[in-house]
Amino acid sequence: MDVQFAKRVAMMDSSVVRETLKLTARPDIISFAGGMPAPEVFPVEPLRAAADKVLRTAGRTALQYGLSDGVASLREKIAARHRAAGMPCQAEDVLMINGSQQGLDLASRLFLNPGDLVACENPTYMAALSVFRGYECDLLPIDTDEEGMVLEDLERKLAANPRVRLIYVIPTFQNPTGKTWSAARRKGLLALAERYRLPVLEDNPYGDLRYEGEDVAPLRALDTSGIVTYMGSFSKILSPGIRLGWMVAAPEVLEKLITAKQSTDVQASTFIQMMVDTYLADNDLEENIRSLRALYGKRRDLMISAMKESFPKAARWVRPRGGLFLWVSLPDGMDTTALLPRAVEEKVAYIPGRSFYAGEDVDNTLRLNYSNATEEQIVTGIRRLGRVLCSHLG
Ligand code: PMP
Repeated sequence: MDVQFAKRVAMMDSSVVRETLKLTARPDIISFAGGMPAPEVFPVEPLRAAADKVLRTAGRTALQYGLSDGVASLREKIAARHRAAGMPCQAEDVLMINGSQQGLDLASRLFLNPGDLVACENPTYMAALSVFRGYECDLLPIDTDEEGMVLEDLERKLAANPRVRLIYVIPTFQNPTGKTWSAARRKGLLALAERYRLPVLEDNPYGDLRYEGEDVAPLRALDTSGIVTYMGSFSKILSPGIRLGWMVAAPEVLEKLITAKQSTDVQASTFIQMMVDTYLADNDLEENIRSLRALYGKRRDLMISAMKESFPKAARWVRPRGGLFLWVSLPDGMDTTALLPRAVEEKVAYIPGRSFYAGEDVDNTLRLNYSNATEEQIVTGIRRLGRVLCSHLG
């Protein structure tokens, strides 16, 4: 059949993600490609007990439609956690969503018209790029360095591009680079966004996964004028399969987000929200996070020491202080997309950096995930990858 799709369908590019997921599924391949948590530390029993308790004590409420903004007591727990970390936040500032991926979509509906520009870090989270492109928007890539977005570059580009309608950032343990913005850059970004009257979308799924150093306040905690819309997620601190995240925004923005949420899927699952609410009441989430930090910190260290041993001397990376990813740069002229089939022959996989760039293609970078592989797989996989990279560097 000759199907006539809408124009925006041509802008949706999911092929890289699809291929990646295919690789991850092959049992003989050690995959550092995805961004998945370690399944062995999912709190299966506590969540089972919470689900059981919800169905036993409030089954008829749990199985019913609920409010679009979410379950009140869960929103209050999330707000209280933000307040404890220095972000002013009340339950009514929180909207429950199906993972922060949905937040990208809802925010795009609110802020973007076809032809608008989204300023973003370059490189950035590739699935966010597909959402913005799906809304027929173009990306405005901003240079980054060790401290975050280069503000001079941002300012120059904002001044030259009146079509910019949104700034999208992942300021803490960024995907894919693992970088964390300094406090000064965060304040500088807010000042610029205010000057240009641009909303900022802050995506923070990794902020809790810090392995060393001091916490840096999220943009939303520094925002005095309500321009920051914040997205949090249970995916990396509890489970991604439950598909539960949240947004924190100014009242007039949240109201519109709730309307958008209603028209998309009415609400996040009442049952899942109540299960998580009960889990949070009966267990110590911070304890779960502490054990994730210990485990992932160890895996990060192991991956880095394996890379030091077997990667070519010309390979470069920044030691991430948290999050799930190591970002590797190879000498100019190396093409990590072309090398991937060779790596797969050696039974190891990564994501070529190219798909994370909003601007021109860059071929000599790659992203490695260290949370999902066992220690043994990390050692073996990095040795295999080292062999592939070394054989191509002469
Ligand atoms: N934003 C970023 C930066 C991510 O890395 C991810 C997932 N890897 C998401 C959003 C989506 O996460 P979820 O929908 O599971 O909360």
